[in-house]
Amino acid sequence: MLGERLVPETCVWCGTGCMFYLRVRDGRIVGVVPSESHPISRGRLCLKGWVGYRFVQHPARLKKPLIREGSGFREASWEEALDLVARRLGEFKPEQIAVFGSAKCTNEDNYALVRFARGCLGTDHVDHCARLCHAPTVAGLLRAFGSGAMTNSIEEIEHADLYLVTGSNTAEQHPVIASHIMRGLQKGAKLIVVDPRKTPLARLAHLYLAQRPGTDVAWINGFINVIVNEGLADIEFIERHTEGFEEMWAVAKEYTPERVERITGIPAKLLKQAAREYARAPKAMIFYAMGITQHVTGTRNVLAIANLAMVTGHVGKPSTGVNPLRGQNNVQGASDLAVVPGLLPGYQSPQDPEVRRKFAEVWGVEPPSWKGLASTEVPDAILKGEIRAVYVMGENPVLSHADASHARCAFEALDFLVVQDIFLSETAKLAHVVLPAAAWGEKDGTFTNTDRRVQRIYKAVEPVGEAMDDWRIIQEVARRMGCDFGWETAEDVFAEMAKLMPIYAGMSYERFEREGGLQWPCPTPDHPGTLYLHKDGQFRRGKGKFHPVEHADPPELPDEEYPLYLSTGRVTFHWHTGTMSRRVAELDREVPEPFVDVSPEDAEKLGIRSGWRVRVVSRRGAVEAVARVTDSVPPGLVFMTFHFAEAPANLLTINALDPLSKIPELKVAAVRLEPVK
Ligand code: SF4
Repeated sequence: MLGERLVPETCVWCGTGCMFYLRVRDGRIVGVVPSESHPISRGRLCLKGWVGYRFVQHPARLKKPLIREGSGFREASWEEALDLVARRLGEFKPEQIAVFGSAKCTNEDNYALVRFARGCLGTDHVDHCARLCHAPTVAGLLRAFGSGAMTNSIEEIEHADLYLVTGSNTAEQHPVIASHIMRGLQKGAKLIVVDPRKTPLARLAHLYLAQRPGTDVAWINGFINVIVNEGLADIEFIERHTEGFEEMWAVAKEYTPERVERITGIPAKLLKQAAREYARAPKAMIFYAMGITQHVTGTRNVLAIANLAMVTGHVGKPSTGVNPLRGQNNVQGASDLAVVPGLLPGYQSPQDPEVRRKFAEVWGVEPPSWKGLASTEVPDAILKGEIRAVYVMGENPVLSHADASHARCAFEALDFLVVQDIFLSETAKLAHVVLPAAAWGEKDGTFTNTDRRVQRIYKAVEPVGEAMDDWRIIQEVARRMGCDFGWETAEDVFAEMAKLMPIYAGMSYERFEREGGLQWPCPTPDHPGTLYLHKDGQFRRGKGKFHPVEHADPPELPDEEYPLYLSTGRVTFHWHTGTMSRRVAELDREVPEPFVDVSPEDAEKLGIRSGWRVRVVSRRGAVEAVARVTDSVPPGLVFMTFHFAEAPANLLTINALDPLSKIPELKVAAVRLEPVK
């Protein structure tokens, strides 16, 4: 390690927020050393943490601005590209422009984008990929508790007595969080997993409840039914700290274990046992991820989970609570920064005159008071001619959106598309101007992890080519449009956001340097940060609110023509649309091609063997993949990932939206399999 520098860094992949040191030699990142003292990673990392830095110096990185010329691009100077972007954006009315932020970029980058959109362009059509993962969490938990974040902390996990994990492939997607769960199991805690797929964690469970896809509200109401009927509810907690119990119970009392068995396929006896164990555990934590949220009933599913935690009083105490596991490294931060329509940074309302005045003082202009479109509504708005220009920072919507061919058609129809990214993504290939951004490892800033911990990232190496920090690029476009943000450093950007956001107000780069990460709410410079929310039943909205929620079938169920359920998700070696992970050889070689998991029973019925190519066909499209015959999926269900541009699973999914959070139904579609001759 002679001649090397060690630069502290927060991991760029998942929302766990592990920390390590980047080994830097001769201006290049050459390796990683874990941080033994970090409260979450404690010297451990998953494979992405160990080798994932290699995408930073991949030869395919964008190094110069590109301007469309005919069917291709030509290289341009920054001056020419930025002037063009500013001039073209100036041609559209505010409501004709949509802006996509990024859960992979820093808080500073996302704040710059939010100020640019609302304070310079004047549009509230601002959104990011949380729309496709945890929008129902924000919508649901804000309604139930008054805060849309993980209630408790990763550090508390090992002290719990029981874990209820549903719709989360934790061991593959948040491996270090799973290691905290395993530490708890070694100390004697119990694990209940409810999931249609037998995930690696489900194989370790004391009780595994295999549900039919899209039946979450039914089994959760079933738990509540058993708990209340058997006298296991925490009546004192309900009476002192909540409201709306009677309305909720009027619905949940109809979900008897026998009825739930008919809807979900979970045996009534098993459901009763699991409900009793969850209610009786002194400290029980619920974990969930996209298996709960990516449904047309996503917000209802989250509300049902909040009901369950409140009925048992398992919230507002250490090692309890409702714990959504955020996928991307900074999806919590992008949500905090209001890269969503209808909010301002720090979950503040643009309708509140005091809040508007505060933002106007700093921005020099009032933010729009109208509510913009969700990103999932943008493709239709483009095709209707309502949205004419889109500015994308670090996202790849033409692969990540449900019914992806529809999204591609829309993006192709735009009058003007700007994409700011580190690689030429499938969306960037459609752009009129592409702006090269500095990557993680090349810039300073902060990420906010899944347990609300704001942590520093540090510039370890110079950006490749002429790439610039995202916030600097945005500031340059804004300046050309007459808006001067006046920032010199990432620290200046953070100081401005912290001034405007009460939940971050006590944080500063100086404190991060001295104390490490800080968990919001952290309202004053002497506040230590908040380990768990809603302490002693003091919910952030006042009283916790129960909501009556009914089960509804998914919008598309298997039938004769399409007899199988399709579920989509990720594998441990890849990340989202693969733009980064497929450029890390050690990750790509593990899963180099698209696959579809098929149960042994269905494989036998269809005459398919592991390794054979099959066509997966839905009403919206078809893709080819390699069959993997495995008992991790039950008969009647197949599973694919959305990492592969050559077989985009989202060509198959359905763009039916949750009316409350606008998330599409990414977890349930009907398909058939055909062997490829
Ligand atoms: Fe990075 Fe997540 Fe792995 Fe930790 S668990 S090393 S944050 S990818």
